[in-house]
Amino acid sequence: MIILDGKKTSNDLKDEIAEAVKIRRSQSLKTPHLAAILVGTDGASMTYVNSKVKACEKVGFNSTLIDLPEDTTEEQLLNEIEDLNKDNDIDGFIVQLPLPKHIDEQKVLMAVDPNKDVDGFHPVNVGKMALDMPTFLPATPYGILELLDRYNVETSGKNVVVIGRSHIVGRPMSILLSQKRKVGNATVTVAHSRTKNLKELCLHADIIIAALGMPEFLTGDMVKDGVTIIDVGITRVNDSSKKRGYRLAGDVDFESVSKKADFITPVPGGVGPMTIAMLLKNTLLACEIRD
Ligand code: NAD
Repeated sequence: MIILDGKKTSNDLKDEIAEAVKIRRSQSLKTPHLAAILVGTDGASMTYVNSKVKACEKVGFNSTLIDLPEDTTEEQLLNEIEDLNKDNDIDGFIVQLPLPKHIDEQKVLMAVDPNKDVDGFHPVNVGKMALDMPTFLPATPYGILELLDRYNVETSGKNVVVIGRSHIVGRPMSILLSQKRKVGNATVTVAHSRTKNLKELCLHADIIIAALGMPEFLTGDMVKDGVTIIDVGITRVNDSSKKRGYRLAGDVDFESVSKKADFITPVPGGVGPMTIAMLLKNTLLACEIRD
């Protein structure tokens, strides 16, 4: 069994990005600049945004965090987005999701300039992704492709089950893996909350991407020997033995599934750090396109 080490791989990627930034500086080219908008004080969102800002510092990017109160109106948020769209120094920006209930998420995502949409969530970029045109790939599926690539996990002709059909993980992942690309050419099944024979589907899968957000949902009896497992789930589970009062749990019961798997991602240290590295990669790309 081989651990797909997202922490190590993402550090390799960050080193490569930092090197690219150094080269840009030596050629007097612009330093990439990522901005992030955070609305409210959701604990997990604050942690994610802070790790993104920290990662920017690590690779030598400039970063700007726009921290808005929970009661920010939709109009105020749209104005902030417009400012970032117009700001020539900002190469890319993200609006951390989820947003407070009174704000229309779709309206907000539509307002982001597709050329600065380094999360790859704007319909223009989703359309380009689906049509296999060059664009910003959504960071989590992009990170999974990169991880599979760097560990030489064969996907061509393999049966893949993606559990979850969200717009940011399951849906794009299923599209990308079915495309004619280096890490792709797979036969993909998308499972979701209405899927009836999930265990049977999983038992036939060579690769399973678990992205449903239910701690330790996928168990050893649901997978075949030699399977590759990508665990996207991150859920905070109460744990009084931890100083912070919770632990992070994946969607996979690592204990039982790892016994059968050839390759498996851990949680934490698997898909999570890859997601951040790919956001940086998209920001570098956005900056290069604007040169
Ligand atoms: P989501 O809630 O938007 O979607 C969950 C999906 O799972 C839905 O499509 C639903 O149909 C499906 N589902 C729910 N119950 C199911 C069941 N019993 N059987 C089969 N399918 C079922 O979630 P999301 O935004 O895609 O996130 C999924 C998980 O991944 C969460 O734990 C989230 O925190 C995590 N996540 C991690 C990263 C990362 O960087 N590692 C990034 C994004 C999301």
